[in-house]
Amino acid sequence: MNRYEEKLKKSPRPKYPFDEAKYDWLPILLDTYHIVDIGISIELPEEEKRRGAKTACHEGCSNCCLNPIVPITPLELSGISWYASEKLMGDLRTTLKKQLLNHTKTSSCPFLVDALCAIYPLRPLACRQFFVFNKPCGWKEDISKTRPHDAWTHSRSIARRAAIAMLPFYSIKKREEQIKAFENGYIAEIAKPMHRFPWEQIYKIMLAFDH
Ligand code: SF4
Ligand code: SF4
Repeated sequence: MNRYEEKLKKSPRPKYPFDEAKYDWLPILLDTYHIVDIGISIELPEEEKRRGAKTACHEGCSNCCLNPIVPITPLELSGISWYASEKLMGDLRTTLKKQLLNHTKTSSCPFLVDALCAIYPLRPLACRQFFVFNKPCGWKEDISKTRPHDAWTHSRSIARRAAIAMLPFYSIKKREEQIKAFENGYIAEIAKPMHRFPWEQIYKIMLAFDH
């Protein structure tokens, strides 16, 4: 057993038994996120050691959320819809509904509330797996163009594990087909930029759960 598998075994993922029994796609999504989170928890400290510096990413640092180029897949969208409509309560729910209703294709991410992510436990893969070194991103800075050497993500082996966990949702169940789909960039192909999604649809789902 390698260090990744050891840590995965020792760190059970968050569970939502009632909801996981209700939605068969939910365990697939939660497993995928857990694989990436565990991978990051192992590899990011190693990268920080290698660079001799901590990542510039920290709580409340949110310029990346103002640049709505985050890619999102159908499975991740189901997770966001579920979490927003069935788990969020109180003022956060009220504010989020307003933001979803008023969102435009040029707005920042509709889930950014008071500089924090309202759907943090169910935030998309892209929001979990990219980190920046040296200094935080500037206003609407596209780090891939301005300073790609400061951007970091986990290894390809973590990406492969995450893709394999996710692919049964898309009816790709055989291991050899999963490897092929991963190698051919299937997940990136089905992802769409978040800002293109008509977020008022999630607002309507939230409204239906209010009644
Ligand atoms: S990606 Fe950039 S803006 Fe986002 S948390 Fe990291 S440093 Fe801050
Ligand atoms: S989902 Fe959350 S972390 Fe991702 S861009 Fe939106 S507010 Fe930021």
